[in-house]
Amino acid sequence: MKTIAEKLNSKNLKATPQRIAIYDYLIQNRNHPNAETIYAALKTEYPAMSLATVYKTVASLRDVGLVQEINVGEDSFRYDAFTDDHAHVICRHCHKVYDYEQNVDVAQSVREIESRFDVAVDACKMFFYGTCTECAKKKA
Ligand SMILES: [Zn+2]
Ligand SMILES: [Zn+2]
Repeated sequence: MKTIAEKLNSKNLKATPQRIAIYDYLIQNRNHPNAETIYAALKTEYPAMSLATVYKTVASLRDVGLVQEINVGEDSFRYDAFTDDHAHVICRHCHKVYDYEQNVDVAQSVREIESRFDVAVDACKMFFYGTCTECAKKKA
């Protein structure tokens, strides 16, 4: 197992304490937080960290493929350190996001798409939208 610092270094990102803290937070928290949530969680321990730093850091982690950026229909993006192919289940109302191991057979679609459109597919993002029980109760 590579340490967080090694993973950052392998992507040519300097392993600063703040970068390590942000990436580690995303690894530990699988609820797909946005930059504001990460900032709020870490600012006590890292008083020198600004919200702008968090934005810059998640953007650079995204650029090197260590985290994926998810748009759940809010003003800000959400971040996920789990980068294997997986689907997301999103409550439209409270924007809770769950991971779902994609067990839908996408290989067949990929073959079809590649031959029909002459495009080499390298990613597939799947989203399921709905209403969670809590939100359904609130509406009732
Ligand atoms: Zn909900
Ligand atoms: Zn996810």
